Amino acid sequence: MFEGSTDKFDFTDIEGRKKMGRNDEDGGCRMSGASGFLMVLLAIAIAVGVGLIVHFAGNQKELNCNCQCGPAEGVVTMAPGFLTETCKAKAVLGNQELCGLCPERTTTPSMSTTLGMRTASTMPNTTMPPTSSPHPITDTRLPTSVKPLHYELNLRPEMYNDKPETFTFNGTVAIKVECKSPTDNITLHIATQNLTTTPTVEASDNTEVSPVVLHTTRDVTRQFLIMTLDKPLVVGNQYVIQLAFEDRLSNTVLLGMYVSTYRDEAANMTKYMTATQFEPTYARHAFPCFDEPAFKATFDIKLERQPHIISLSNMPLVSSVTMGDGYVADHFDVSVTMSTYLVAFVFGELESVKNVTENNVLFGVYTTPQNINQTAFALNLGSRLLDTFEEYFNISFALPKLDNVGLPDFVYGAMENWGLMTYREVFLLNVEGVTTTYDMEFSAEVLSHEIVHSWFGNLVSPAWWDDIWLNEGFATFLSFLGVDRVVPEWGMMDLVNLYIIQPVMDVDSVESIVPIFREAYTPDQILALFDIITYYKGCGVIRMMWFFLGPETFRKGLERYLNEKAYGNGAHDDLWASLQTQAVNDGKTDFDIKSVMDSWILQTNYPVVTVRKVNGGLYLNQSRFLLQSNNNTDFAGYSWTIPFTYTTDQKLNYDQSANNVLWMAPNTQVYATDASISKMNGWVIGNIQHYGYYRVNYEQENWNALITQLKTDYTKIHVVNRGTLISDLWALFKAGQADLVTAWDMLTYLQYETEFIPWQYASSELVYPNNMLTRRPAYGNFERFVLSLLEGRSLNVSLNDNRPTQQRSLSKLIFSLSCRYGVPECATRAKQLFNDWKNSGTLIPPDVKESVFCRAIKEGGEEEWNYMYDVYLNGPAVEQAGALASLGCTSRAWIISRYLDYILDPSKIRKQDAPRAFTSLLRNTNAFYQTFEYILAKWEFIVVDYQLDVNALNTIVSTAAAGMFTEYEMKKIENWRDEIHPDGAANLSGFDVALNRISVNMEWHNKYYERVAQWLENYVGSGP
Ligand SMILES: [Zn+2]
Repeated sequence: MFEGSTDKFDFTDIEGRKKMGRNDEDGGCRMSGASGFLMVLLAIAIAVGVGLIVHFAGNQKELNCNCQCGPAEGVVTMAPGFLTETCKAKAVLGNQELCGLCPERTTTPSMSTTLGMRTASTMPNTTMPPTSSPHPITDTRLPTSVKPLHYELNLRPEMYNDKPETFTFNGTVAIKVECKSPTDNITLHIATQNLTTTPTVEASDNTEVSPVVLHTTRDVTRQFLIMTLDKPLVVGNQYVIQLAFEDRLSNTVLLGMYVSTYRDEAANMTKYMTATQFEPTYARHAFPCFDEPAFKATFDIKLERQPHIISLSNMPLVSSVTMGDGYVADHFDVSVTMSTYLVAFVFGELESVKNVTENNVLFGVYTTPQNINQTAFALNLGSRLLDTFEEYFNISFALPKLDNVGLPDFVYGAMENWGLMTYREVFLLNVEGVTTTYDMEFSAEVLSHEIVHSWFGNLVSPAWWDDIWLNEGFATFLSFLGVDRVVPEWGMMDLVNLYIIQPVMDVDSVESIVPIFREAYTPDQILALFDIITYYKGCGVIRMMWFFLGPETFRKGLERYLNEKAYGNGAHDDLWASLQTQAVNDGKTDFDIKSVMDSWILQTNYPVVTVRKVNGGLYLNQSRFLLQSNNNTDFAGYSWTIPFTYTTDQKLNYDQSANNVLWMAPNTQVYATDASISKMNGWVIGNIQHYGYYRVNYEQENWNALITQLKTDYTKIHVVNRGTLISDLWALFKAGQADLVTAWDMLTYLQYETEFIPWQYASSELVYPNNMLTRRPAYGNFERFVLSLLEGRSLNVSLNDNRPTQQRSLSKLIFSLSCRYGVPECATRAKQLFNDWKNSGTLIPPDVKESVFCRAIKEGGEEEWNYMYDVYLNGPAVEQAGALASLGCTSRAWIISRYLDYILDPSKIRKQDAPRAFTSLLRNTNAFYQTFEYILAKWEFIVVDYQLDVNALNTIVSTAAAGMFTEYEMKKIENWRDEIHPDGAANLSGFDVALNRISVNMEWHNKYYERVAQWLENYVGSGP
């Protein structure tokens, strides 16, 4: 499963993406960004609760991350799967940038968890019962006395009117089971379906009299259906359970079997589809079943539909028969043995394009008819990825076909249902003039992630959900590896660290974080496992293992594991055993995989290795890395088995392998010597290509030598290490383990840097200082500092840019920074691109469109603003959100004033867009105070007459606080809160978040402002 990524799925929403795009220099959601690191500390310290709720706006496909942030004693409310892992974790850490980009929809699924301790919650869905209690239960597993072998499933959705709230489905299921141990009851999963006939159990063996079902009971808490029989089943015999059921199709929660809605532009009407999302525990919401991953069986599926739509399932269609009532019954081939969570159906008006892969698999991409011309990328890349993974694992894809369906409404990013993968449309479709380089990379990553699950997850599934990190960590890592094999020129393996590992290392450096391997019993607990630690830290430790085993031992070990466990299940110890056998076969005997990996998956956090040069050798020490600790923090109890690597200015060896690993055992100090160290007169660098999931700290002399090297000839240091030197150093500085001057000094080498990766690390570190300095005297020097780094950069961008992707990404970043920090050429260039687009419809290169819009509005006057406003109101749907975001970029006070009035007039700005309109103005320094004062003056009207919902208000106030750092501003927010609700009855959590944020900002100013200002003065004064 690919967790929904808000930066991606809000495809046309420039503002939203700006705050969340993980390769955007604004870095709102990027974990390695400096933004809010102090805020992180404070947020953790006071256990700020953050709720994430995602809005789903039906036809408009406007899916946003919307956080409700508040001091709820560490409770995190989240809509699972709607959020990028990064986004989720960032919000957990109190990043209020993310909060409330759209109003809450009360029917969105939500769940509550705490960091480290799960608590109860309910699914606010009329079709689903509460699934948990105040005291979480642990006896949620089905009995193992019977084992399912085969399902015959018949399903019919009724969705053929214009009232989706009335849609239903009905069906029958016959489950053949085998008795494994004596029992006089059969227990399986069911959710809220009504049984429409009395269940029966029939003996398959003619010599046995079938048992009689005396009564059926439901255990609602455990979602069990218990059939009590008149006699015990005979061990070894087989029985068929017959059940008939019906239920409402969910039109609110996109889990189980649900309705998806879209606007058919050509027909000018709303249309409906039925789709499924069963992972992890929602197959039981569609049909009664043994809904645990280890209960694998075969599935014979029949789907009934009206003739004007099609149906799809995991297997190819075998026959279609018209029934007496005019419906058509589609009968699909019997599936391979698989888990219930991988079963899937889709019903709708869909069109497809297809390829046959090298190994004769029919690879299809399905969408609604209006999007079918956006499928070429997914079809071509996807089918090549399938070929690649067959070759990589040396195991054929198990099914004759693999369909990939873009769904208008989808709770996650994508889902690996075997043979019928489902995607949020934006991940599958590429639109000319809209799809950015980053979107394209991300789309490839998602396709690759789902396809590789066909082996890691589908062919071999976790024995229980606690090992879901094996599915997701491997799919995350292997998705990069797969794309790298198909399009090596993208350099995806160099991007794993930037996109995946550094973000989670920031999250993973607070005490309250969870480890990778966690117990889970209830559906809520299971859902909570799908988080950044599972996906991204999972990927990080797997990548480290890939390195220390060596790529080929790793690959052969996986092949061995998949063959040993094919069509079955595995736990992490099974995988370690397969890999260990392979390692021994390959002559690698200097490590025990289980003991190495247990230190990474069972402990929270990660180590920092401190390197000290002593007598011609290196002393290496490890300690638990935390951004903040206190007197009670346990450092001694945490230790890891670390595959340490290093090189020196004498060796410059960045192409290291398993043979170069220096193992650091837990709780031991290592002394390393080699000739290059004793000869070394410059620097040593640890963690080559950052293959290890740890940071490295050095003595001051070594940091200085590294900075000198970067400034004189940065090519002597690998591009990944150039990036992670910045992120390590800044993380160490934030943790009080490195010097401020050193951290800032390192960034000065960027004036020479020509690669995207180090630039992206650096620019994300500058986000928070930028926000803090923007209304302070030191900002002039800060601007001069950034401009000095940008001097002489080309701002040439073109629509059909065929340069390597990372060069395109760098151009995007440079263009954006240049526009923001006032490089004159950028204003000229933006204006020219804008005018060509406005006057003759020339497409703006998508990578720079956001910057161009914003700059054109900022530089322009009424004419430009009015034009953009017209695009917002009447332009193509894909341009509207971008237009809205840019309206807030204006620098004219009177236009700001008029726009503020427009926002509160629903005939001028759609009500759903009001919060975003306000927040885009609040992020514009020129509009900040005017907007804030306007909202303060009008709050009664906004709340009482305009009826802005409380979440939107929370969002606005917490956004406003991002730029505040004075007692006066704090007092204003406090007074405002007290005026709105003196008794504190309303859920004004955004105000608490805002106050926390201001106090963190104040702390930054107290602690760092003078020193940063001094550093900038020295730098600018002395010249770059
Ligand atoms: Zn996945």
